[in-house]
Amino acid sequence: MCGIFGVYGHRDAAALTQLGLYSLQHRGQESAGIVSVDEGGRAHLSRAMGLVSEGFGEEAMAGLPGALAIGHTRYSTAGASAIENAQPVLARMRGGHIALAHNGNLTNAVALRESLEDGGAIFASTMDSEVIVHRIARAQGATPEARLASALAGVEGAYSLLVVLNDTMLVARDPRGWRPLVMGRLGGGWVFASESCALDIVGATIDGEVQPGEIVAIDGDGMRRLQGVAPAPVTRCVFEHVYFARPDSVVFGGAVSRSRRALGRQLARECPAPGADLVFAVPDSSNAAALGYAEEAGLPYELALIRNHYVGRTFIQPTQAGRDAKVKVKYNPVRELLEGRRVVMVDDSIVRGTTTRGLVSLVRAAGAREVHMRVSSAPIISPCYYGIDTPRREELVAARMSHGELTAHLGVDSLGYLSIEGMLAQVPSGPDGYCHACFSGRYPTVTPTDSAPQRAAGAPGGGA
Ligand code: 5GP
Ligand code: SF4
Ligand code: MG
Repeated sequence: MCGIFGVYGHRDAAALTQLGLYSLQHRGQESAGIVSVDEGGRAHLSRAMGLVSEGFGEEAMAGLPGALAIGHTRYSTAGASAIENAQPVLARMRGGHIALAHNGNLTNAVALRESLEDGGAIFASTMDSEVIVHRIARAQGATPEARLASALAGVEGAYSLLVVLNDTMLVARDPRGWRPLVMGRLGGGWVFASESCALDIVGATIDGEVQPGEIVAIDGDGMRRLQGVAPAPVTRCVFEHVYFARPDSVVFGGAVSRSRRALGRQLARECPAPGADLVFAVPDSSNAAALGYAEEAGLPYELALIRNHYVGRTFIQPTQAGRDAKVKVKYNPVRELLEGRRVVMVDDSIVRGTTTRGLVSLVRAAGAREVHMRVSSAPIISPCYYGIDTPRREELVAARMSHGELTAHLGVDSLGYLSIEGMLAQVPSGPDGYCHACFSGRYPTVTPTDSAPQRAAGAPGGGA
C-alpha cells in the first residue's frame, strides 16, 4: 500500500506535502518522495528510503520550490526495497515532464508492460506504476485530462493517482474506487490525499471524495471534473476500514473510528465470551474495535498490552531474533491486569498468525487464566491483488488450518471471528459496493495468474 498527497496553488506546496506525508506514514514506510514544479515550470524531485522524518531535511526541502507538489509514501514489501522503486516517478521528455504518485495495484500491468516493451519502451523501475507514465507519454488528447483518460483506458486494477503533466495537476481514481482519495481546500489552493487525516494536519477543509472513475484537472484555466473512465461496479476495499486507514480519517464517506467501533460491537454480538473478566486490544490498530466489544459485552476495557512506539519496522529483522523475542520487542503485557484473569484479546485481523501466537504466549506467561481471542474481521483466506500486501495463500494461516487447528495453534481457549456479512454491515454505505475478496475468495475481477500477488504485476512490491 501507499499514501499519496498533492497540493495545487499554494506557495508552500512542498512543505505542506511533507506534512501530509507524515500523516500518511502508516500507509507506507519503505520510502517517501516529493515532486514540485516551480514558477518557471521546472520539475524538482526528492526521494529517500525510509521514513518521511528521515528523508526530508532542510536541504531537500529547499530544493523543492513552487506552488504545485505531489508526494508519496511507499509500503514496505518483501524484496525489492530500492530507490528506483520509490515514488513519485518523474519522467522528463521533449516538451515537458510527467510525475506520478500511485496507490493501488494494477492487475494487467504485465501485459501492458510487455506491449510497451515490444514498442521500444525502456523501464527504469520494476513498478507497475511506471506503465501508466509510459502510456501518458504516448497518449494523444486535446487537453491534459483527455490525454490521461486515453492513457487509462485499458488499465485494469486499483489506482488512486496524482499526476503532474507539465503545469497541470491531474487526479484520478479507478472506476471501482478501490482506494480512497479525498480532496480539500486550503486558502485559494487545492489539496488531495489518500486519507482525510492528511488534510487535517495542513488545516485544509474537506471537500468530498474524488469519485470512482473521475478525473480532476487543475491548471491556469481552473478546475475541470469529468467521468474519465467508463463506469464499473464499485468495489471499495473493506480492509481500509478494518485495518489500514487511520481511525481519525473519514474514508469512503464514513469515519473509520465509528466503523471500527461498530465492528467490535458486532463481534461481541456474534462471538460473546461468557464468564470473561475484561477486554483488551492489541494496540493500536484494534483499539477502537476492542472498545466497541467491551461496551457491547458490558466488560471493563483494560490497557493490558503496551506497545513500544519507538520500534521501527526495519529494526525488527526476522533473522535477528526468534519469534517470541521479536514480538517482545514490540509488546509487553501488564501482569498486574492479567494475572489470574479470564481475558478477551481483540485484534483486527490475523494474517500469518505469527504475531498473534507470540502475543498469546506472552499474555499467558503474564498469568492470564483463560485467553479468548476475538477478531474484528472475517478470516483472511485469499491474497489481495489490489494493493494490500497480503502474502501468498500458503502463508495465510486461516487458509491452511481448520478452526480447531487454528485455535490450538494460537494457544487460545476460544477463537471467534466476525462473519463477512457482519463485517460488511458496519462499514459506510455497506454492505454492497465493497471488495471482500481476501475474506470471501470472491474476486470482483479476473486476477493475475501468478500466485504471488504483488509480484504478479512484474513488480516487486508493485506501486502499492
Ligand atoms: P499475525 O498474527 O497474522 O502475524 O499478525 C496480526 C497482526 O498484523 C494484527 O495486529 C494486524 O493488525 C496486523 N496486520 C494486518 N494486516 C497487516 C498488514 O498488511 N501489514 C502489517 N504490518 N500488519 C498487518
Ligand atoms: Fe481490500 Fe481484501 Fe479486496 Fe484487497 S482483497 S482490495 S485487501 S478487501
Ligand atoms: Mg495490529
